[in-house]
Amino acid sequence: MHFLDKVLDLFFPRHCLQCQRTLPSHEGGYLCHECFKDLIFTGDHTCPRCGRSTTDAPSAICQNCLDLNPFFKEGISLFAFNHLGREFIHTLKYKNGTYLTEDLRKIFKHKAQKLGTLNQAVFVPVPLHFIRKWRRGYNQSALIAKLLKNFCEGTYMDILSRKRNTCSQTSLTRNERKANVKDAFVLKVNNLDASKTYVLVDDVFTTGATLNECASVLYKNGARDIRVFTLAHS
Ligand SMILES: [Zn+2]
Ligand SMILES: [Zn+2]
Repeated sequence: MHFLDKVLDLFFPRHCLQCQRTLPSHEGGYLCHECFKDLIFTGDHTCPRCGRSTTDAPSAICQNCLDLNPFFKEGISLFAFNHLGREFIHTLKYKNGTYLTEDLRKIFKHKAQKLGTLNQAVFVPVPLHFIRKWRRGYNQSALIAKLLKNFCEGTYMDILSRKRNTCSQTSLTRNERKANVKDAFVLKVNNLDASKTYVLVDDVFTTGATLNECASVLYKNGARDIRVFTLAHS
């Protein structure tokens, strides 16, 4: 921790996101050592397409992915979107949570083995419509993608844009979600490199409709190895 951070801690103490305990200077981030363990991390048994935890046979594709028939071939998701996982994502997304970078680094480090397969990939954030981004002040997916790029020594490419402002997906059914994001994205560059690994980055994997719509745009423009990364899965 930098000297300046230590001084800041004296005047503006950091509190744990969950238990509200004042965090000591040597503990960076906003989740204390104990609460960090409350994140429900995905283990080895995951759906290879979306990365969600599964009790099915190892490497069995989950029902959601069978229905989705995705353009992406592999997926990694790091923790469950419930309890602390949900609180963490909500803070990151809606409560100006750009200060959670140190916690994100800790989470990546904790799941470093899973992330090994993404070494030197191209990380592409799922874009927000510019008005939504302007109102929020940042795109949380871009924040995650940039940190991942550093962690995996890859490249960051903000190459997708959202041409229409889709409504929030949270209250929609699976089919409504699909229709809501249909043709919502465009590529900002001309061609993609078929020899590269492109990783679409978003905060949560729910039905995968948004990620798959983005993946289809990458596929139509020449990408062949398309994967997805989400922090959490519902
Ligand atoms: Zn705590
Ligand atoms: Zn799946």
